[in-house]
Amino acid sequence: MKAAVFKGVGTVTLDERAMPEISDEEVLVKVHAASICGTDLKIIRGGHFRVGPDETRVLGHELAGDIVAVGDHVAHWKVGQRVSVVPNIGCGHCDMCRRGLNNMCPNYDAFGINIDGGFQQYMVVNPAALYGGNLFEIPNSLDYEAAALVEPLSCCFNAWKDLSVTPEDRVLILGTGPIAALFLQLARSYGARQVIVVGRRESRLQEIAGQGATDTVNSAAVDVHDEVMRLTGGHGVDVALTCAPAPELQGLALGLLARYGRMNFFSGLTKGSKVELDTNKVHYWGLTLLGSTGSSIKDYARSMKLVESGQIDVKSVISHRFGMDEAVAGFDHALTGKGMKTLILPQEAKLR
Ligand SMILES: [Zn+2]
Ligand SMILES: [Zn+2]
Repeated sequence: MKAAVFKGVGTVTLDERAMPEISDEEVLVKVHAASICGTDLKIIRGGHFRVGPDETRVLGHELAGDIVAVGDHVAHWKVGQRVSVVPNIGCGHCDMCRRGLNNMCPNYDAFGINIDGGFQQYMVVNPAALYGGNLFEIPNSLDYEAAALVEPLSCCFNAWKDLSVTPEDRVLILGTGPIAALFLQLARSYGARQVIVVGRRESRLQEIAGQGATDTVNSAAVDVHDEVMRLTGGHGVDVALTCAPAPELQGLALGLLARYGRMNFFSGLTKGSKVELDTNKVHYWGLTLLGSTGSSIKDYARSMKLVESGQIDVKSVISHRFGMDEAVAGFDHALTGKGMKTLILPQEAKLR
């Protein structure tokens, strides 16, 4: 079988590997779709502390496929079932896992991080993932591409759920990538009265405007603070999400929050970044500043329902598809930052 293997900073190669063998307690998944995430690109650019200097890794934590082999001791799962995974596998006994926060477990394992993930033709699902509830059967109405994209939506949903958005709220989304587009859809499906998207590229803003933003702001052309205040009649925004790794966006978003505003610092910054924030505003205006990373199994289950019911169209964020033989070109493409979501389809040899 073929696998796109990360071999240290800047290096991914397409390798021929033996078919993985499973134990009595494992399941083998034939991967049909795996999408490239900003996290994959971050690892290719700078490595990851869970991938040692002498290790290699198949990245990819947003994936879907079908079961082709089931260990003798595995209950509930059958060959032929269509499945997707929640990538972060909790240890099952720490305080975070006890609260159902497998994404916050300090001793986590994760597909595509410290165990081989989706950018290969066949992937082993280990016992911890099976027992932890990380494997999901895909509803009939979803294809593999949509199922793979439930994962990034679940990370957005994790951030979204604690912002308590209502139809009274004006929402500000800073960024125009796939994550920003998913937040836009969440804002619409939760009935936010106004959704303002800020970005630097006019083409992206136009695209996003077509997906239901009430307003767009080109940060290369106008002063974002002034323009958002103008668009909200001097009110500011009730909810803000930073969806790009630029430190200055965090202070900008806080500055635009109205009284009782809520925000989530969704995009991580470069390690060691420090941002100065007006905490007096947080105090006197009763603001809520949140952060989130990954998603719990519960977040994932709910996100699957949002996709299954048609409330969120995750496939609308796909811009490019590459076959397995073109996987390295797919990463190179994604690294340029062009387009929205790039998918690798491991069972297709070539798509272009
Ligand atoms: Zn991801
Ligand atoms: Zn744990």
